[in-house]
Amino acid sequence: MAKPELAVSVSTVRTLCGGATSLNLSSKKINNVPKRVSGLTKLSVLLLNNNSITGLPADLLSLRRLSELNLGNNALKKVPSVLGHLETLKKLYLFSNQITEVPPDVLGGLPNLTVLNLNHNKIQRLPAEIKSLTKLLHLSVLDNNLEEVPAEIGHLTMLSELNLTSNKLSVLPQQLYKCKDLTKLHVARNKLTSLPEGITALTKLHILDVAGNNLSMFPVEFHLLPLKELYCEGNRFVKRKPMPSVQGAEVLALKELVARFVLRTGRDRHSWVHMRLPHYPCLTTLLANASCCAICFSPFVTTWLECVHFISLKKDMKMKTSLTVPVRALLCSYKCFNTDGHYYYGVATS
Ligand SMILES: [Zn+2]
Repeated sequence: MAKPELAVSVSTVRTLCGGATSLNLSSKKINNVPKRVSGLTKLSVLLLNNNSITGLPADLLSLRRLSELNLGNNALKKVPSVLGHLETLKKLYLFSNQITEVPPDVLGGLPNLTVLNLNHNKIQRLPAEIKSLTKLLHLSVLDNNLEEVPAEIGHLTMLSELNLTSNKLSVLPQQLYKCKDLTKLHVARNKLTSLPEGITALTKLHILDVAGNNLSMFPVEFHLLPLKELYCEGNRFVKRKPMPSVQGAEVLALKELVARFVLRTGRDRHSWVHMRLPHYPCLTTLLANASCCAICFSPFVTTWLECVHFISLKKDMKMKTSLTVPVRALLCSYKCFNTDGHYYYGVATS
């Protein structure tokens, strides 16, 4: 049997002679990338997976045509900095290493990346520079130690698949709603207590996996999502268990009363309020957080009453499963809550 080093040489020489555009050095038991590889400037595909590589040589930046690099299943502790100079890279696989850190400048140098696979590492955070990856279609960070996702993920407007399964996330950024092309979102086995409200703006979302989290309900208007598959077992959803409650007096603060008046009047485009609002940025910001009553559709800022309604995935979302799940609904007042003919339940907090 040929020694590993010899096998590498023969393969490299063949590539050199033929001017090949791909080189497969996977499972060659190598610790380092052979020096000659950096001379193969026509390479577009380089497979280095299933080895014991701990770093990459700086002269690899001479691979000016490289579009796919597989470094999966090696011994990297950090995303090698030379990658930040491989501007032509489209697919980058770094799964099953021991990576703890993703340097910001590396991501900043990969504007053409469409696939980034960081599965099975020890990454705690992704840098804000992830916003540079504006062509990214698939991002997978499955089985890591992520505690948060940067808000800048909202810049990835072409992202179609996002896999954050098996991390330590307790919250997802609100800005996720900007990833309008998202079709698959996997966030199973995290610590999520809620999903961002804006998620319902993801009009292409077909698969959502939130199994094994701490969700108590789904966000407002969740049933409008075009989901085909939903995985949500192993959460802490509120149950439909009617119990008596005492209703406190309905006293709204002056600020809320004024806010409701401004919101209501401002809906009319020809109103004085609507025309003057742009001159008061503080007020506009405050009113941007307004919600709409699920019963009377009146706007309000402070949530008076958080309710749920239970939707049937089969009947309301045309899915194959017969599951019923709780969806958040916000009401403006007890007056609305006490009207007949609706299916909203108040949520018991204890
Ligand atoms: Zn109302």
